[in-house]
Amino acid sequence: AAEGADAIATRIEALAQENRRIHEAECFNLNPATNVMNPRAEALLSSGIGSRPSLGYPGDKYEMGLEAIEEIEVIAAELAAEVFGATHAEIRVPSGAIANLYGFMATCRPGDTIIAPPASIGGHVTHHAPGCAGLYGLRILEAPVNADGYTVDVAALRLLALAERPRLITLGASLNLCEHPVREVRAIADEVGAKLLFDAAHQCGIIAGGAWRNPLDEGAHLMTMSTYKSLGGPAGGLIVTNEAGLAERLDAIAFPGMTANFDAAKSAALAVTLLDWRVHGRAYAAQMVAVAQALAAALEDEGLPVFKAAQGATQSHQFAVEATGFGGGQAASKTLRRAGFLACGIGLPIAPVVGDMNGLRIGTPELVRWGVTPEDATRMAGLIARALRGNDPDALLPEVSEWRQSFDRLHYVT
Ligand code: PLP
Repeated sequence: AAEGADAIATRIEALAQENRRIHEAECFNLNPATNVMNPRAEALLSSGIGSRPSLGYPGDKYEMGLEAIEEIEVIAAELAAEVFGATHAEIRVPSGAIANLYGFMATCRPGDTIIAPPASIGGHVTHHAPGCAGLYGLRILEAPVNADGYTVDVAALRLLALAERPRLITLGASLNLCEHPVREVRAIADEVGAKLLFDAAHQCGIIAGGAWRNPLDEGAHLMTMSTYKSLGGPAGGLIVTNEAGLAERLDAIAFPGMTANFDAAKSAALAVTLLDWRVHGRAYAAQMVAVAQALAAALEDEGLPVFKAAQGATQSHQFAVEATGFGGGQAASKTLRRAGFLACGIGLPIAPVVGDMNGLRIGTPELVRWGVTPEDATRMAGLIARALRGNDPDALLPEVSEWRQSFDRLHYVT
């Protein structure tokens, strides 16, 4: 018999609770692409404003009765600009992927050439042919990779840019181990008349907290990001810039271009998230980096092959383990899931693994939010190493879950 609507709704509610239990009681989340929200921000997502109209500009909305939403929209945009040290912030952005599309639309026309970091160093699909760059009709060239490190090769990039005259160069990736040469690439962009977009989908948190140089200060024309990764906010996107002309174009792309009504509850939740960065950002960002460095060192002490860039395992809140010996990054992640650790694969500039990624990506935004410190690194690395090396990861789950449950209070939230 067909399941009744009420039963299906009840089941969906139970599934949501089960997802919460897995993330907040059973497992440690080692995935840098997610976080736990401030409960006050999370509550705003179901505050009833998200399904109301929001079409138009604050002070000049199409529908009536939206005075309160108008104020929230202005506060959120002002806080975003403040936290990222920018003159302009565009918050009407559904996701990090669409933030990149806005960036491409603001700087390029279909048929133009861009240069973007390749997947082998964590370059994101949105900058490439199958992603929004390709779908928007851009011609995409892969940036040359620095042989010693985990970023672009500046000298080779300059030669490519001089030969190809791109309209846009992008930096920033899904794995960022060491600082990118933003100043040097801006100089190349100036030489060939290109703009520079820094994709801070992952780095935005430690940029907001001052633990990573702000690409806007270093010369990026645009900085795009996801709001739910290291930033710890609702699922969405954000773009900041100090360029008035680009800000004007982004404004027109956001409305009436790519959004009409947008989710005001998300703007409210983002505003509360950004306040956490104003108050706790420095301490949170510094701790994310400290825990990543301690965990990378402890995993290396366990004999795991931690990937090294020129400056070592990481200057960031994320790092990678070479996963060739574990059947690949996704295979290793499935093993870790059984032991109570959540992670996923990533591309590394090492030998490929057929049918899988060759790296395992590890990050600390959620660990640190739950109170994990560098002192916990040795025990955690021991459990991760046993899970990956032993042949019975399920046997570790009770110990891991019990330890996980001792981290029951959120840190760095107002
Ligand atoms: N850019 C980079 C570098 C990413 O890693 C991601 C990851 O998802 C994105 C963009 C897309 O962000 P979103 O998931 O918010 O669309």
